[in-house]
Amino acid sequence: MGRVIVVGAGPAGMIAAGRAAENGHEVHIFERNNIVGKKIYITGKGRCNVTNASDVDNFINNIPNNPYFLYSALYGFTSEDTVEFFDRLGVKTKVERGNRVFPVSDKAGDIAHALERYMKKNKVNIHLDSRVEKLIVSNSSVKGIKLLNGRQYYSDAVIVTTGGLSYPGTGSTGDGYKFAKDCGHNVTKLMPSLVPLCTEEKWCAELMGLSLKNISITVKNTDGKKLYEDFGEMLFTHFGVSGPVILSASCHITDMKGKKARLFIDLKPALDMKTLDLRILRDFDKFKNKNFINALDELLPKKLIPVIVRLSGIDGDKKVNEVTKEERKSLCSLIKALPLTITGDHGFGEAVITRGGINVDELNPSTMESKIISGLYFAGEVIDCDAYTGGYNLQIAFSTGFAAGNSVCMEE
Ligand SMILES: Cc1cc2nc3c(=O)[nH]c(=O)nc-3n(C[C@H](O)[C@H](O)[C@H](O)COP(=O)(O)OP(=O)(O)OC[C@H]3O[C@@H](n4cnc5c(N)ncnc54)[C@H](O)[C@@H]3O)c2cc1C
Repeated sequence: MGRVIVVGAGPAGMIAAGRAAENGHEVHIFERNNIVGKKIYITGKGRCNVTNASDVDNFINNIPNNPYFLYSALYGFTSEDTVEFFDRLGVKTKVERGNRVFPVSDKAGDIAHALERYMKKNKVNIHLDSRVEKLIVSNSSVKGIKLLNGRQYYSDAVIVTTGGLSYPGTGSTGDGYKFAKDCGHNVTKLMPSLVPLCTEEKWCAELMGLSLKNISITVKNTDGKKLYEDFGEMLFTHFGVSGPVILSASCHITDMKGKKARLFIDLKPALDMKTLDLRILRDFDKFKNKNFINALDELLPKKLIPVIVRLSGIDGDKKVNEVTKEERKSLCSLIKALPLTITGDHGFGEAVITRGGINVDELNPSTMESKIISGLYFAGEVIDCDAYTGGYNLQIAFSTGFAAGNSVCMEE
């Protein structure tokens, strides 16, 4: 049996450590924070969308970046395995809209505690407040780690599960990328993903906090090519836009190379232009003695009305029966495609996930072992794989963590 070191006690690291210990190895996990799984507490708005109750094909469709690299790991530890795993550790789960799985308690902390229990049950040695500074490597083989305080620990294998660059306050500040580069690995371009977007238009700030449900969005590049469309919920912020459909859209527009993207919000996706016009005419008839600005209360959220009136170019103080057919037509166009200019994303500080990471061509997809340094493994967000929201990213952490923990020190 071997001696295994795991660097980083996030979901990937904890499952890797627990599994390696279950297989009989002496396992030491090093975590820079004074608690394990700090990021887990903020997942799923504190409820932790722990996986997605769907098959591997659906996972592949929801992983825009290097899905096929994950095939073997996702089959080796499926979303069903995740549900059973937590059930065995005493955490009951439930399935919600879009097959999203949450703990019945709605407490993300239950998931973090369960992973800690799993490690303790299997006698993993947990070292908190222990930031790893570098890997010890000789003759293309990993020998151990050196902590920031100078202490060195030797092992037969090291599993790096240090996460990405997003929400750095949780401990993920990209150390694993440096370890990988020092060993000769390539790290692909790192970008924030599932991230709020900044807009040129300042009127978004006026609408800060306004959430729009049942809208659809279309994102186009400057040449007019459609990059993404979606239906669901979004939110205005002081710098632009956020919310589920925007975060998903961000996966498709993070690499604009300085160019801007156009976002069009359809505020009434269930109505075509003709039906919308008829609906507006009905409202105008109902409010015939009112000014235009006071005639949209039943059509649009209150906060949005002054902005729409301003953008429509129609005088808000005009009586509704004086609004011309042409003006109505441009109002309909605005409601069906409210335009915004995306200037960039809001950065790693608020990104759910990091796009880019350890080049997957340099890793064995069944074991997560490096093809460059023997005994070195990578798992979780540090690898160049990322998915949409829906529980897919945590499942990637569990599946790759399990693959590494299950394979480590098991060769011939
Ligand atoms: C706000 C938010 C909400 C999210 N919600 C969901 C959700 O509901 N469902 C979902 O599937 N995904 C969600 N995610 C994504 C998910 O949290 C990540 O995919 C997942 O945490 C990645 O796991 P990991 O173990 O690879 O990395 P991390 O969770 O980042 O863990 C890495 C660990 O390594 C430690 N570490 C780093 N460097 C060192 C070092 N040098 N020495 C020692 N320790 C080190 C860090 O302190 C950290 O504890 C969310 C992310 C965010 C930011």
